[in-house]
Amino acid sequence: MSFNFEPWTPPSITIRNSVVRFPLRRIYTIGRNYADHAAETGLGHKGRSVPGVSLKPPDSLIGNGDTLIYPPATQQLDPEVELVIAIGKKGVNIERKTALKHIFGYAVGFDMIRRDIMRDCIANEHSWDLCKSFAGASPVGEISPAADIGHPKDGEISLKVNGEIRQSGDISALIWDPAEIVSRLSNYSELKPGDIIFTGTPKGPGPVEKGDLLEGSISGIGSLRIDIG
Ligand code: MN
Repeated sequence: MSFNFEPWTPPSITIRNSVVRFPLRRIYTIGRNYADHAAETGLGHKGRSVPGVSLKPPDSLIGNGDTLIYPPATQQLDPEVELVIAIGKKGVNIERKTALKHIFGYAVGFDMIRRDIMRDCIANEHSWDLCKSFAGASPVGEISPAADIGHPKDGEISLKVNGEIRQSGDISALIWDPAEIVSRLSNYSELKPGDIIFTGTPKGPGPVEKGDLLEGSISGIGSLRIDIG
């Protein structure tokens, strides 16, 4: 097979204590999955119905230690620290009780948002693509395999900006936990190895500026550090 230009190779994520890498396929993000953040958005969480689900382009991935160049067309760039699920086994209509078998591992991610564009999208009932899609929009730290760490049910999640705590919570407060996320998303389309899912952020995301240092961590899972250039 030949192509009229060089086809891309998928971006990939470091796996802890491994020389092989996790090739990225799709990036899902789940919105308003912590009650405290859902409340502060003013949008709330409508019971256990479908929360906001967005896709981010795979080429928006960056990794630990990278610099995110402040994106164009925004005056407010917000990081949201989130637990990231990495899918290792395909499945459709996955039952909750077997859902964890499809999870390869977990990582810390920043769901970067052009918040001013998000507000315009909400006001105009537009899709959220422009607020979530830009170079560097999806920083993800190394993946800790479930084979090593299990499937954590709790753990402190936090974001520091220039050494100051910006967000702090616990992944035990997820409204949809990882098993429910995998089960429910798989009702809409087949999940495949290489898919990752950002699971939502606790309260308190706010703007960052050029020169800021962002450090995220989840106890028992890992950490992520980037700066804004
Ligand atoms: Mn988010």
